[in-house]
Amino acid sequence: MGVHIQVLKHFSSLPLLVSLLSFPGLAFGQATSPPAAQRPEPEPVVARPRHAEARAVGVVPGGVARWAGEGITRCGDARETWIPLDGACYYPVDLGQEKGTLEVFRDRAGRRETATLRVLPPPYAEENLQVDPGKVHLSERDRLRADQEREVVVPLFSLRTDPVFSLPLGSPLEHAPPPRNFGTRRLFNGEPRSAHGGADFRTPTGTPVLAAETGRVVLAANHFFAGKNVFVDHGGGLLSMYMHLSRIDVKEGQRVKRGDRLGLSGATGRVTGPHLHFGLRWRGAKVDPALLLGDPAALPSP
Ligand SMILES: [Zn+2]
Repeated sequence: MGVHIQVLKHFSSLPLLVSLLSFPGLAFGQATSPPAAQRPEPEPVVARPRHAEARAVGVVPGGVARWAGEGITRCGDARETWIPLDGACYYPVDLGQEKGTLEVFRDRAGRRETATLRVLPPPYAEENLQVDPGKVHLSERDRLRADQEREVVVPLFSLRTDPVFSLPLGSPLEHAPPPRNFGTRRLFNGEPRSAHGGADFRTPTGTPVLAAETGRVVLAANHFFAGKNVFVDHGGGLLSMYMHLSRIDVKEGQRVKRGDRLGLSGATGRVTGPHLHFGLRWRGAKVDPALLLGDPAALPSP
């Protein structure tokens, strides 16, 4: 589907495209085509009127859409606007986003272009775990502590400093195993808990944890769930978060560069074993870190 949309976008004359499609033999060459039985079903091509700009793309919760193009001056959605990053608009979709549509736009050559993000059903696995009931239901004291820590953390998601990053991000570990568990929906003794909002990297305690990008440390604290954890603000509403550390080597307010050591991995907070939990928030949305560690051109585009 994406390929056909790309083709549509680059044709300056829609009637020409339609005429080519009417003669598939001419356009694609009969001689090299496999026999009909082996040929994949042709995908239907929907020719949209250009003036309607009915651009749309499916994005999973926790995903990011990318809309690149020449001369973009501003990007935006229903809530805010921002400057493009390396010539493209990025639209993060929160892991908790309900199925439906989101309207986004970009300003280009003095015109506003709009697109629709169709939020797909979450593709993530569900896990049912049987655990000690005392670990599921917090004591009053622990619950109060966790609530107070949440009040410190949540305002950080609204930070909007100048962007000082580019994509892809750097790995938070020098030799990172594949990231696991993003978006996994967990049931503890049959009771649903919120989906897992970061990527887990299995790594022994004491492994150096590295800043994924240049930025400023906005949190360095020991919390009930996250254990020893560090948040780095990269500007443009992007925060990276490193949890369950055994040691923190930075202070709040400190500037760090990509690859600088933030501390050592560990098993502090509520964990079942040593690992690095690496999370990202982008303009408030919980997004899959694997997407921003990979090639940005692979992100879905309207
Ligand atoms: Zn985790």
